[in-house]
Formats: sequence, structure tokens, C-alpha cells
Amino acid sequence: MAVSKNSKKEKKYVYFFGNGEAEGRADMKELLGGKGANLAEMDLIGLPVPAGFTITTEVCTSYYENKKKYPPELNKQVETALTRVEKMMGMKFGDKNNPLLVSVRSGARASMPGMMDTVLNVGLNDTTREGLIKKTKNPRFVYDSQRRLIQMYADVVMEKAAGIEPAEGKAVRQQLENEMEKMMHKKGLKHETELSADDLKELIVIYKKKVKEVLGKPFPEDVKDQLWGAIAAVFQSWNGKRAVSYRRIEGIPDWWGTAVTVQSMVFGNMGETSATGVAFTRNPATGENIFYGEWLPNAQGEDVVAGIRTPNPINEQGKTEHNKKLPSLEKAMPQVYKQLHSVQQKLEKHYKDMLDIEFTIQEGRLFMLQCRVGKRNGPAAVKMALDMLDEKIIKKEEAVLRVSPSQLDELLHPIIDPHAEKTAKKIGNGLPAGPGGASGQIVFSSSDAVEWAKKGKKVILVREETSPEDIDGMRAAQAILTGRGGMTSHAALVARGWGKCCIVGAGNIKIDILKKRFVGNDGSVLKEGDWITLNGSKGIVYKGTLPMIKAGEENKDFVKFMKLCDSIRTLKIRTNADNPDDAAKARTFGAEGIGLFRTEHMFYGKGSDKPLFLLRKMIVSNTEKERRAALTELFPYVKQDIKGTLKAMDGLPVTFRTLDPPLHEFVPINPEERAKLAKSLKISANEFNKRAEALHENNPMMGHRGVRLGITYPEITEMQVRAIFEASAELIKEKKKPFPEIMIPVTCIVTEIKHQYELIQKVYDEVCAKFKLKEIPHLTGTMIEIPRAALTADKIAEYAQFFSFGTNDLTQMTYGFSRDDIGSFLPEYLEKKLLPVDPFQQIDRDSVGELMRIACEQGRKTRKDIKLGICGEHGGEPNSIEFCHTLGLSYVSCSPFRVPIARLAAAQAAVKFPHKATAKSKK
Ligand code: PEP
Ligand code: MG
Repeated sequence: MAVSKNSKKEKKYVYFFGNGEAEGRADMKELLGGKGANLAEMDLIGLPVPAGFTITTEVCTSYYENKKKYPPELNKQVETALTRVEKMMGMKFGDKNNPLLVSVRSGARASMPGMMDTVLNVGLNDTTREGLIKKTKNPRFVYDSQRRLIQMYADVVMEKAAGIEPAEGKAVRQQLENEMEKMMHKKGLKHETELSADDLKELIVIYKKKVKEVLGKPFPEDVKDQLWGAIAAVFQSWNGKRAVSYRRIEGIPDWWGTAVTVQSMVFGNMGETSATGVAFTRNPATGENIFYGEWLPNAQGEDVVAGIRTPNPINEQGKTEHNKKLPSLEKAMPQVYKQLHSVQQKLEKHYKDMLDIEFTIQEGRLFMLQCRVGKRNGPAAVKMALDMLDEKIIKKEEAVLRVSPSQLDELLHPIIDPHAEKTAKKIGNGLPAGPGGASGQIVFSSSDAVEWAKKGKKVILVREETSPEDIDGMRAAQAILTGRGGMTSHAALVARGWGKCCIVGAGNIKIDILKKRFVGNDGSVLKEGDWITLNGSKGIVYKGTLPMIKAGEENKDFVKFMKLCDSIRTLKIRTNADNPDDAAKARTFGAEGIGLFRTEHMFYGKGSDKPLFLLRKMIVSNTEKERRAALTELFPYVKQDIKGTLKAMDGLPVTFRTLDPPLHEFVPINPEERAKLAKSLKISANEFNKRAEALHENNPMMGHRGVRLGITYPEITEMQVRAIFEASAELIKEKKKPFPEIMIPVTCIVTEIKHQYELIQKVYDEVCAKFKLKEIPHLTGTMIEIPRAALTADKIAEYAQFFSFGTNDLTQMTYGFSRDDIGSFLPEYLEKKLLPVDPFQQIDRDSVGELMRIACEQGRKTRKDIKLGICGEHGGEPNSIEFCHTLGLSYVSCSPFRVPIARLAAAQAAVKFPHKATAKSKK
């Protein structure tokens, strides 16, 4: 068989760059890492980049797959590239007269700031240093560089990469620093920059001795050993503790690997005409189009980042109270500043984004060492996207991709000041159920929350878990913290609905409600009245109060950006709201309808005492007659709430769901409440208790709930539907255009929906006749939240004009994980990587998603124009919204505060998957 030429060709592992001849490009990040790819690109567009080469991420992967051995071709390819660098720089690695020094740096495809290791000044030893001294006539600089190399190399290569875990205070770096301090002390010096060349020369001898003593091996004098040691150390650092935990948090896969870039050293520490700095092409904190950065004269890159010296502002415009006395680069080196300014402009134009750049000035000559897309906060991201659109740098499709959903979220809630958060004391963590940050005094009961709040105190309600009876306390509290529960537990659902900060399932906090105290995971004991702060976006609990940054709801940029998203998206965005107030609020956020009105929610909270009493009366009724009597009393309250909501939505569709939860949830525990109800029903307390007990179920989530209630007690559905139609009829008479959608929950068999459909039709005819109306525009449909319903959706669609995916229950029933109890095991599943994400937050496309896909396909087969939506909590989660877009759903529905995020996510999905712009509904 003929062997093709290509298969014989040696695989390329090393990519050269320098003097405009780069072998890589910006779009080769997967292979060359972000740093390698961007250095190549800067070189190609003619910017001053010191020559070097990048060893690919594939070598990293192969290194780990082959017991830490390199591919055989690597050595030769590195030698060849190094020779090319030497030629270009006019220096030689290891040469005793004219030595080339290199840096060895890591670079994964996504930036992992500070998580992996770097070694600078590789190539210095006792011989090459003499050549460098002769050449630079700057012995102090050379000795300083050599002592830095020994310190960095011993730490990174000889200790960390070798897997040595020293005892506290015994790390080699620390021991070397102690030696330096000893010397400074002996000589009466305050700062290391005061050490003379001779001092440093002496220190180098001390350092080498110490390295041998601590690590049992000498520091390598052979420059090739130094180079290969440093390369291996960078690969090792990919699996270092810091890098691994960063990857877990950021969701970066282990198999990506890091590239290694070997680059000629340029020196910012050669004297007062040398410098180093970092800058952003625009201000990353405000988004303003102002070149922004910091620099330090006579320093190496690590000095700026390490924060030992206060860096100077790069230009006059960037001066603050804090640094106004320090000289700017603009003033200190005007020529170099001018060049740097034009470089940053060129870079921004080329990359069409705000960049973060690193540079070094060696004796008045500028070199670019790195560029990458700069990190920014939420308000800055929105401003930059809009500005760059106005400046015609990017198109509107690109502009909506420039803001991540979590950045947009920053504009909607107060957040903890990130600087303060860095040093705050963590005392526990749980699931991030409600976004933003909040501080308050701890209370352990709902009634205390209400009372304390009345006195003007800020409180955080701490409970094992919450129930609907806690609703007032939850409302009164700044934030909610529970020990149990998952992302769709009661507390999480309610808090999200209000946009309230909330952490659930904080299992590592031991709560003792009776003693009114809890013990944090660090052992600290917190009592009622103590202050804590929650980060509800990350699920972290802190001791004490932390400063907050206000939300920017009034932000004009925000409004403009949202309009941009709306001009692109094809999915409609509805909200889950259960009363006229929430409905009105959701409209201000841009909701285009209500996708889920949970009728049971109207029985809790402000002004619900009477309807709740009547509902309870209905529930403990024993005969249809008793029940009908209670329902008749309840009817006007239900109708009033429905009418108010339809009116607030002013012609937009409102999906009313018939009663869903198991009835026992509504039976009061409080004996006084029970006595009142017994009296009203004219029965004894004993009889009442008997009836209440009869409602008990072992597995209520799969028990007598949803449509099953409507089948066994058709009079309940009948009352609710009548209220919906009569409210609509009255509004029609008032010249309004109500559009109710009646939704049956927990359907799993076609006969169930058929039964309810016929009942609804009967009531519809009666109401039309009563109000002398030819029609009341409406739809009747069902939730799809049981796998059987999804699998038999073609049959169900015979009676349902729409499906709304109830992905909370659908996930519960698909996984068999209880949505209320998942908090006890989910954190371990996530930590052990048994699950990549919480399936109650993000739709699992393989299972729940597949059931949805089948249901859409089957439903459309029976009813071509079937309206499809989602109202489970996933409807506000960006990844799930993208999935819904690809299924061609008409809308997603989420809690009011997530509406803006959903608008953005839908626009991003439309940009990424334009071909799926299907299934637009009339409403
Ligand atoms: C669902 O199950 O996804 C849903 C929206 O209904 P609930 O959360 O009220 O059970
Ligand atoms: Mg449900």
C-alpha cells in the first residue's frame, strides 16, 4: 500500500516567532495557548516582540499520557528553533561572551492568571554572567538577575515541580528570602534595591549553598539543564494544586493542557531608562475609552504584579488620589509612551476588543511581551460593547456576544465589593440560589425576621429549609440562608422570583434553630443578632459585614443594550409571576407575557389571610357539597387576582396553571388555626385532625397533586377556570384584550387532559352564554413534566394547544433526584465530578433535553402549530435558553429578575444558531 507523503512528515511541536516571521497565529490558541498565539500575531502585525518559540499543548497532553516523556522529535525541534532565535537576536544560549537569556512561560488556551509557573533569566550561570557583565557594563543588574533565577528556579522547578511539599515556613523560596533579609539586616539596609553588586554576588554563593542544603541537589549550572528543567516545570504546573482547583471552578477541561513559550529575555531592570508595565486599551472598571495602565521604572514584570512597590500611572489621565504624585510614563519617557500608545491603538483595531497588554522597556526600547482580551466588570462590558458598535469596530451581533450573562447580572443586583471579598472570612458555602450580595443580622425564625425588620434592622433569615409559611419572613429579610434544599427548593424558587440574595443547601453549616445559633465550617459559632454577609451568586457565607457595590438599574447603557438584544433574538421571553405587582415589575424588565402563574401562590403573603382560610376550608371538606360551598366563597378572591394580573399584562398572554401542589401542604399545623377552621366547618377538633391526617402522603411529590386533584375534585378546576373566563369576559366588556392560557400540570396520560379539556369547554360555553360573548380568546394546554407525557406527546397534543416544559419536575422524574433533598448529596457529586453541573440549574441535554426534543417532535406531528415553551427554573439559565432556541420553542419563562439575562441569552443563541429562527408565535 502506498504511504502518503503527509503521514511520513514529522509532527510539528514547536512554532517559532520573531522579526515578523511567526509560524503561529491568533486563532491557534488551542495549539499554542493564548500567550503563544498572541505573541505570534503581534509579531506578524509588525509589533516589537522579542524572538522565541512555543511548544504546543499537544506536547503537554502527550507528556501526561506517556509517563512524563516527551515525543522523540521534540528535542531536535527545540534545538532548531533555539538556533533560529539565537541568529535573530545575535546572541547565543550559554555563550560565555554574548549569552542569550530566555524566559519560560506557561499559556493555556484560556487565561488562568497566576495559576501556573514561569521561570525568567534562564541561561545565567557563573560563566555566562561574566560575558553579560562585560556586555552590559552593569554588574549589579546581572547579579540581581542571577539571584532571581536561582530563587525562582529552586522554587518552581526544584521544589514545586518535584512534588515536594515543605512544612510551613520551610519552603525554599522563603528560606532564600530569609537569607536576603539576614544580609540586609547585617548591612543595615531597608530595601533590596539598596544591595550592592558585591552584596548580590555574595548572596548568590549563599543561595546556592542553601539550595543544596534544603533540596539535596545543586542548582544546575548547565544552561541546557536549566532550560529543560524549566520546560518540564511548566508542564508539571498544569497539574499543580492551584491550576487544578482553578480549572474546577472555571470548568476548564484537564485535557486542554498548557503550551510553553520560550522567549528571549528583555530587561526592564537595567537602570532608569528601563521599565516594565501592564496596561488596558480601555478602562476595565468603567469601560471608558481611555488608555489605562501602570508601570515601574527599573523593574521586572513580577514586581508590578506582586504589589511590593506601588506602580506609577501610565498617563496623566489615569492619575488618581492614590498615585497622583507618582510620575507617569507619558511624562517620564514621552517618546516611548507615544510608541506604546500607537501600539495599543493598533492592537485594539486589529483584535477589535479591549486588550490587556504587558510590555518591557529595555534601555529606552519598547518590547511587547503579551496581549490578550482583557477581563472587565459588568458595567464596563456593556459600555464597551455599545461604544465599539458606535465606533463601527464591531457589528451588533458581535456586540451582544461581548457581555456574558453573569456580567449583565452585575448590573441588576448589589454585589459584594470584590476587593473586600478577597480577604473576607468564609464560614460556609452552599448552592447559589439567589444572586447578588447582602449583609444582615442573623435571625432564625420568620416571625423574628418580620419583627426585627419592622424595627429597621437588616436581617438574614437562617433556616434548615423554608416552607410557604415562612414567606413573610423571607420577604422581610435581606437574604436567606438554608442548611438543606436544592436549586428548585422552596427558598430558592421564591428568592429568585424576588431577585433576593439566597444560599440553599449549605450543609457544612450546622444550624440549631432551637438554640438560635449555627456553627460555621471553620468552627466559629454565630448567634442570633450576629452579622454575616452572603454572596448569593457564588454561594459563599462570610462572617461580619462587607461593603457592597450598588446595582445600576437606572443605567442608560443597560436599557440601550437590552434593546439591541431584543432586535436580534427570536425567542420570546415571559416571566413566572403570580400576582399583579410581580406582573407589572416583570413588564418593566421586558417580559412579553406570563409563562407560569402558579395559582397556589396567591394563598400566601400580603393580604392572603382570607383566601388561605377558605382554601384550607375547601381542602378539609369531606363532601362535594362542603367543598363546593367553600369554593363558591373562594371564587371572588381568585377572580380578582386573575383579573388584576390579566389587566397588568395588558393584552399579553398569561398562562394560568390549575392547582398543583399536594393538598396537605396547605393544612395548618398551628392548633389555633385548626380550631378556627373546625369551627367554621362546624366540626369537632378531633374530626378536623382526622381529616387532616387522611391527607398525609408518604411521597407527596408523586402523590395526589397536579391534574390528579382536578380529576378527583373536578369542582376545583371548574372554579378556577370559571374565574379565568369570567375575569376575561369582564375585561373584554371593558374593551381590554385579555389572553389567558389555561395550563394543566403534571399530566402523564392523554385521558387526564381529555377529561380536563372537556370540563374546561363546558365552563367556557357557560361563561360565553352568561356574558353573551361569541368567544373569549384563549388556549388550553398542558405542562410536560413527566417522562411519560414527553414520550406520548403526540397523543397529548390532540387535546393540548400548547406544551410548557416543567423542567423542574421533569428533571426530578428523569433523574429520580428529589428536588427538595438534592442539597444533601449534590455538592459531593459536583466535587467528585460525578456530575458536571447541577441538573436542576442547567438542562441535561442528553436526558431531559432529549425528552423535550421528542415531545416537540411528537407534538408538532399531531398539531403543526403547537405552541411550545418552558416554565421550569431552567428557563432563566443561559445554556438552557440556548438549547430551547435550538429546539425552536416559542418562548422561555423565568422569574422577573432573570428576564434581562434571558433576553441576552436568547440574543446570543440567535447569533450562534441563526438557522434556528423558527416557530415564532402570534402572541
Ligand atoms: C416545573 O416542574 O418545572 C414547574 C414549573 O412546576 P413547579 O416548579 O411548580 O412544580
Ligand atoms: Mg412542576
